[in-house]
Formats: sequence, structure tokens, C-alpha cells
Amino acid sequence: MTIGCAFAKLADVRPFKTTWKVRVKVIHSWRQYSGMSGETMDLVLADEHGTKMHAGIKKKDIGRLSKLLVVGEWKVLENFQVSPATGLFRPTPSNWKIGLSMNTIVTTCSIKVDDMFLSLVPIQTILDGDLNHNFLIDVIGQVLDVSEIKTVPVLGREKRKLECVLRDINDQRINCCLWAGYADQLYEACSDMQVTNAFDASKLIINPICEEADAFRIGLPDDGAIVVIQEDDEEAEKQRIKEQEDAWLALEMKSVYDIQNATEVNTFIYEKFRISVKVTGIDTDWGWYYFGCGKCQFRVTKDLKKEGATKPRPKAPVWYCDRCKSNVKTVEAKFKLHLLVEDDSAKTKVMLLDSVAYGIVDKTASFLLNGSYDEIQDPELIPDDVKSLVGKSFEFLVGVEKEHIVYGNDTYKVHKVKKGLLILDTESGDGPFTAIDNGSTIASGEEVSTLMRDQVLPIPIPDSASAYQM
Ligand SMILES: [Zn+2]
Repeated sequence: MTIGCAFAKLADVRPFKTTWKVRVKVIHSWRQYSGMSGETMDLVLADEHGTKMHAGIKKKDIGRLSKLLVVGEWKVLENFQVSPATGLFRPTPSNWKIGLSMNTIVTTCSIKVDDMFLSLVPIQTILDGDLNHNFLIDVIGQVLDVSEIKTVPVLGREKRKLECVLRDINDQRINCCLWAGYADQLYEACSDMQVTNAFDASKLIINPICEEADAFRIGLPDDGAIVVIQEDDEEAEKQRIKEQEDAWLALEMKSVYDIQNATEVNTFIYEKFRISVKVTGIDTDWGWYYFGCGKCQFRVTKDLKKEGATKPRPKAPVWYCDRCKSNVKTVEAKFKLHLLVEDDSAKTKVMLLDSVAYGIVDKTASFLLNGSYDEIQDPELIPDDVKSLVGKSFEFLVGVEKEHIVYGNDTYKVHKVKKGLLILDTESGDGPFTAIDNGSTIASGEEVSTLMRDQVLPIPIPDSASAYQM
């Protein structure tokens, strides 16, 4: 028996059995979160025939399998499930996805092919606009005109962003936008480079060493174009941050004991107190996200009655917004974190709505959910990005309201948070301390009552936005 015969082609695997045996290269791996299964590890695998397939590992198997499946290495995989590939941000064009489990055996592999298995899309094809937005693509280009890294408000949150122009060998050009870590990576390497794509689920490779890149370099127009870093109004930005910082420091620091013993609120609807606390836990009774109406931001519910009555059964949930009094199509996952916090004086609870929570988690709720519309099944399954808040200290600006004093509510809403030099605000873009903070109450424990002042654009821009804008 020749060894080759024992292996199935990735292109041939299907759901009818689990005793598959394939040999594959691990192209890429990353972690993400889904409401049903908690944190997962995701991989892109390729076989020697050039087929690429998305593979997932459930949380309980990550420990064992992540050590065996290292990016760049070839492995033999035995025993795995195959299921249909669905959803947003699909990293391969395959209709199937592999599920690795406790039964999966990973062993060393004799073949080694040094291919990166890129499926490069010409810039013209992107510009034509006919690509399916559910799929991530690979792009190679020469970087021109790199901006400074700017901190910009996105849906009321501060994000680091870098813009550049990519061009290919036909001198087709496209504007690119890179966020957070990708922006830093590109900026640092800013000279004579070529770039492939970006996103947590994908990769930014600078000056790649592969056949495709060699061919690309040879094919580039010989016009001596070089990277130019554009000067920016850096001074104005520094000044803005300095003013925020000063205004923040001008607020007297209070203790948790102080806020619990506040006896009067002024004529505004709530009094703001700056506290410095350590996060000691996450109050899992509340879950950590909800789905908000795309129009009014209020919590939506699944309309099970309508869903059941619709034939054929709809693929996406049917949502009902109590405020719009109608079914709504666009919904967005939003953070609502309840944290247990303490300082030297006392312990208390704080609640962070989406824009403030995003600032300290650094990923959007939609991103952590990977487009899932599932309800939380196990409240203890919290993504690591959220869990990692425990043990960290933050300066919060919390609101003390009538219901805390009169009705004994013991959870305080966080209106702003200081993170490094930045003040993260429910209304960033307007400067740190907008004169009027509209009515806010958390008495009901429902975000609906507080959301009006947190209104943001209904269109989600996850971290992965860069993938679309490349
Ligand atoms: Zn609504």
C-alpha cells in the first residue's frame, strides 16, 4: 500500500462519516467566540492539492490540539466531523467545515510543501464589487501613501486606524484601512513592502517570501514609487488628548465607600464620581451581551410565534422591537457587562454599556460572537477577552442617581473609563465631557432605559472591518 492512497483529499470530505484521514498544512489559526459553544479555536488548513478548509476546535479540546497544530507545519489528521460552512467572514471558499474533537488524532506528516496557498484576488476584481462579502480574500499589493496612525471614534469608541493605498502590478489601486494591531504592524515596517490581507481571522504579511510575492515584485511598474508617510495634524491630536486628561484629573477621586454613602444628588439627573477600582469578577447572572434594534438600539426579542408561522422556516431569527412596535431586520450584538469591583474601602458592582465596554475589551460584541444570534446557554462560558478584565484596575466615572440613594440600587452605571491616555466615552467625538448627559437610569436593570444616550449607528463595524476595506 502506498501511503498516498490512505489519505482523502480535503476536497472530498463530507459529513457522512468521521473516520477521515487527511494530510494538511496549518495555514493560520486564531481564537473566537460563539454564543452556543463559547470560545473556539479556528484554523485554516490546506492540502497538497491546494484545497483550503476552515476547521474549528471546541474549548475543551483547545488545550490538547493547539499544541499539536502549529501554523506552518504539516500534520496527519484522523477522525473529525464535517459540517456545512456558514456565516460571515468565511476564511475559505469551501462549502464544508471540519470539526476537530477529542477523537481527533494528530500525527506527524512526511510531506512538506512550502506553499502559502494564497488565492490572490486582483485589485480590479475587488473594485468591480461583485465579490461575496461573506468570504475573506487574499490580496497582494505594494503599499503606497501610508497615513499616520490616527485614533478615531468608531461607533462612539476610540480605535487606532491606519490608511494606505495598495497597488498591484497593473497599477490598479485600492484604499486600505487597517485597524489596531494591523495598523501598528504595517506602520512599523514602513519601507519597501508588499502586503497581504488583515483581520483576526486572517494575516498581514509584510515582505512575504513566496513565489507569488517574487512574481509580484518582478511585475511591479518600474516607476520608482516609494512609500510616503503623510504628515498629520499630530499636534492637534496631542492637544485634544491632553485636554481630556486634564479634565479627567480635575475630577476629585472618590472611594467606593464615598459613592455608597452619597446622600444627595444635585439637580442634574445623576452625579458623576471618579473611582479607581480593581475588577474582581464578572456577574454572570446578567450575561454579557444582548441584541439591540438597528433603528432604536433597544433590546430586541426573538419573535418565536412569527418564526414558527413562517413557511419555509426562516434562516435568520425574526426579531421584534418593543419600542418600534414592529419586526426589525437589522440587529446588532452589544455589550452589557456587569462587573464586581472593589477598592480599599468597599466592594460594589458596575454596569458597562456597549461603547464603554468595547473600550476596555478592545473587540466588539459582534466580533466575539462571530455573527451568532444565539442566546447564552451557559453563563459561565465567557470569552477570554472579557474574562481577562478580572484582576485589572480601571478608573471609571460612575453615575450616582436617585435610585441608589433612595431605593438602594447597588449597581452603578459607568459613563466613562480612562484607558491609558484615552478617556473612553459613550459620546466620544464630542470631547470628554459633553455638557449634557441625558437621562439615565439603571433601576430596572434593563439597558433600554439607558440606551437613548448611547445611540450609535446601527451598522456594526467589527474589528474585521479591515478585511472588507482592504
Ligand atoms: Zn427599535
